[in-house]
Order: sequence, then structure tokens, then C-alpha cells
Amino acid sequence: MSEPLRLSVIQVTPLRQNCAIVSDETTHRAVVIDPGGDVPRILDTIASRGLFIEAILLTHGHPDHVCGVADLRDALGERQGAAVPVLGPGIEDAFLCAGAGQAGATFGIAGARDIEPDRYLSDGEHLELLGRRIDVRHVPGHSPGHIVFVAQDDRIAVVGDTLFRNVIGRTDFPYGDQRALLAAIRDKLLTLPDDVSILPGHGMPSTIGAERQNNPYLQNLDTL
Ligand SMILES: [Zn+2]
Repeated sequence: MSEPLRLSVIQVTPLRQNCAIVSDETTHRAVVIDPGGDVPRILDTIASRGLFIEAILLTHGHPDHVCGVADLRDALGERQGAAVPVLGPGIEDAFLCAGAGQAGATFGIAGARDIEPDRYLSDGEHLELLGRRIDVRHVPGHSPGHIVFVAQDDRIAVVGDTLFRNVIGRTDFPYGDQRALLAAIRDKLLTLPDDVSILPGHGMPSTIGAERQNNPYLQNLDTL
């Protein structure tokens, strides 16, 4: 049995988005999730730790999560000598990915660029990365194509802007849907074991158990 995956965070963009680096410290292989900006800092971290990046994963198409993807993909392709695949989010977020450059500029994200993923992902897919299985679950409502990544054996879930400590993701967008978000959290996240750690897109990590017990939005979900 290999060591558990290491999860580290680099806060990027003026919105302090949690860009995640999930790594196997034995093989020095890693994935980067949601590189929204500040690509030079992400690259410095990767280089200083000697990591090989297998893929860039995206939870959803909001600018603070995707605006650094194009630069990071270019730089890693050159450094590693082969293209690094960009996987996700769900195809329902394609319109956000295509407009990310302009949206990012309005949020003050330096060098924001549009993004075209190599492949959009669907609910129930299993990715083979870092010598493990990483599950993809569709959790719409904050954005229509929002997905989360779950490494069940390592008890880690990277959940983007769906579920936070004591709160849930914003749904006050033209395409936001709080009822859909709550139903998806109930069906796709609260079905995970209590000891699974969750890393949200902003703020502090938590666990499924803590949110099940304490998050005021998640009480009485059976009446949805
Ligand atoms: Zn978002």
C-alpha cells in the first residue's frame, strides 16, 4: 500500500481561490486542480518539489478556477516535453470556459485566458491518475457543469464551490439553482463517509461528517 496522497493548497487570484496540488510523495507525480491564476507561483511550487503533473483538473468554469489553465498547460507542456491533458468540468460549463478570459479580467485576474479543455467529464466517470482511481461526480447548482473529484481510498474530495465549512456555494447567478445544489450535495457528497476530508474552492477545509452535523443548510434535506 502506497502512502496517502498529499493535498496542498496555493491561494490564487484576488478571490483567494484554493488551487489544489494533489500528489503522491513516493512517485512525485501530481495533478493540479483549478489553477485560476498566479501561474508563476504554481510553477515554482511544482519545480521546487520536483513534481511531474499528470493532468490539470477543473471543477467548474468560473474565472477564479480556470483563468490560469492555458498558461499552465503551455508551460508544463514545454517543461515536461509532452502535452498535459486538461480534464473537466462538465460540458454544461463550456460557455463559462469559453468566456473565462473576459470574465477574469473584470475580476482583476492577471493574464486571464479562455480555456478549451481536452475533455469534458461526466458523472460517474473514474479517472486513472496517480496510480489510483479518482471518481467524478456531477454537483450542479452553483454552475450547471460543476463536478467534484473524490479519491475514496485516500479519503479526499476536492469540491470546488459546492460545499464549504458551514455554508454552501452561491447560487445568485442567472444560471444558479439552490434547490439543485442542495439535492446534489445530498445525493453526491453526503453519501460519502464522514471521515472524507473536503477541500472547498475558498476558505478552510472540512470533513463530510462535520458538515453533515453542523452545516445549517444541510439539515432537513429529506424535505427537498
Ligand atoms: Zn465558482
